[in-house]
Amino acid sequence: MAPRKLIAGNWKMNLLKAEGEALVRALGGSLSGTPKPACDVLVCPPFTLLGALAPLCRETGLALGAQDCHAKSSGAFTGDVAAPMLADAGCSHVIVGHSERRSLHGEDNATVKAKAEAALAAGLVAIVCVGETEAERDSGKAEEIVVAQLLASLPQGASAKTLVVAYEPVWAIGTGRTPTVEQVADMHAALRKALGGVLSDAAGLRLLYGGSVKPGNAAELLAVANVDGALVGGASLSHGDFWAICQSC
Ligand code: PEP
Repeated sequence: MAPRKLIAGNWKMNLLKAEGEALVRALGGSLSGTPKPACDVLVCPPFTLLGALAPLCRETGLALGAQDCHAKSSGAFTGDVAAPMLADAGCSHVIVGHSERRSLHGEDNATVKAKAEAALAAGLVAIVCVGETEAERDSGKAEEIVVAQLLASLPQGASAKTLVVAYEPVWAIGTGRTPTVEQVADMHAALRKALGGVLSDAAGLRLLYGGSVKPGNAAELLAVANVDGALVGGASLSHGDFWAICQSC
């Protein structure tokens, strides 16, 4: 059976406390109403808001995640945040290997794998992001490249309960462009097959699509085989848009 869908909002470096609280309150209000969406809903605010939003998320049934963590559990790493700190702040999930971390902070697959392992050790679900650049897509080798990226980024000891994979084509993030449903279907099938070679419960693992998901394209993307939810950037900052995406499940 396909896993229950997950809609995750990546707020990136946006929103101050009052704005974040208002968004979580609005989402919580929608979640407690009817009809209930056929998905779990996760918000991933900046580190500074996690402590303030944790009790609100708990009250309203929203899951809370962070956007990154360090690979070590503590130490002299000025400016970084460790996975146990995120769990302590009330997070259940953490995104690792987002393309903005890979490209702007030079994170390679080994770093992403180490971060994902730190997340699992802290009891968090790791959302491992992978995706090809436009040049890689144009080369005709996108599936091969993304599967290799995934296998090299996977934490040891992962299972469908502790790992989520997000396929996010780099060229689709924040651009308003998306792959065709056939391209998404082919990539997700390839990722599921590759996961099947390393995880006994790969069929139950959530494979998210991310990259310019909006209310207008969510239903079509979420209906694709092997798409078990979405990682949403820009549209997650608007209650109306994010909630419309949740309702598209
Ligand atoms: C993202 O950053 O994870 C993302 C998918 O962004 P957007 O939805 O804005 O393309």
